[in-house]
Amino acid sequence: MNKKYRKPIIAGNWKMNMLCSQTKDFADELKPLLPKNRSSEAVLCVPYPLIGSVLKAVKGLRVAVGAQDVSIYDKGAYTGEVSAEMLADLGVKYCIVGHSERRAYHGETDAQVCAKAKKLLEHGITPIICVGETLEQRELDITMEWVSMQVKGAFAGMDGADVRKCVIAYEPVWAIGTGKTATAEQAQEVCEYIRGVVRKLYDARTARSLPVLYGGSMNAKNAAELLACPDIDGGLIGGASLKPADFSVIINAANEE
Ligand code: PEP
Repeated sequence: MNKKYRKPIIAGNWKMNMLCSQTKDFADELKPLLPKNRSSEAVLCVPYPLIGSVLKAVKGLRVAVGAQDVSIYDKGAYTGEVSAEMLADLGVKYCIVGHSERRAYHGETDAQVCAKAKKLLEHGITPIICVGETLEQRELDITMEWVSMQVKGAFAGMDGADVRKCVIAYEPVWAIGTGKTATAEQAQEVCEYIRGVVRKLYDARTARSLPVLYGGSMNAKNAAELLACPDIDGGLIGGASLKPADFSVIINAANEE
């Protein structure tokens, strides 16, 4: 982490877990475990129907609420879609785009990721843009090319000012939900590379200010080592964000770095 230039972000991704009726207990359990003086931003990216109840439950905890996807459309006849304007109206501050599960199960392309990120920016919501290679791509030694292509695709048509309002999450697909974490060296190597791609595309200022998170089986045990890496500015956390005790250990680790 480099707190001089970037605010650490610890973002939970609840995926399709939890119920409205469980959110108050979650927040009540989390509250006493949060550090008093916090140098990092804590976020919970939750399913759409839970947004209202999580916003209410975390009031006063300095925990921002995020969504997990957004429509590329503004409004109209798009049954099942949720617009960036609707999310902003609710008080959503962050939104994940291009998560590997959406890319794999819903065929989400880099062009759609880019369109979604732009819609979010129009409404003042910070896109958390996920990129990352599969195990096959890592073994073929094309991780950097792949991730670079995803980053360029996501930022297509954006200027430096837009990019400085985004967050990248490097999530090796083979490490998500598998219990296999990238080593700190592997994660740092790719996060540093991503910053280099942004430096070449834009400028040093943009690269320096862009938060790059690591995601993939980050947990209470391995968070401190990953967060100690100079180009890892936080985490996108799935499984461990469902347990207040584990999630708070990660938030505390970011605070101590
Ligand atoms: C994720 O969902 O983005 C994620 C990283 O999940 P997990 O922490 O469970 O691997």
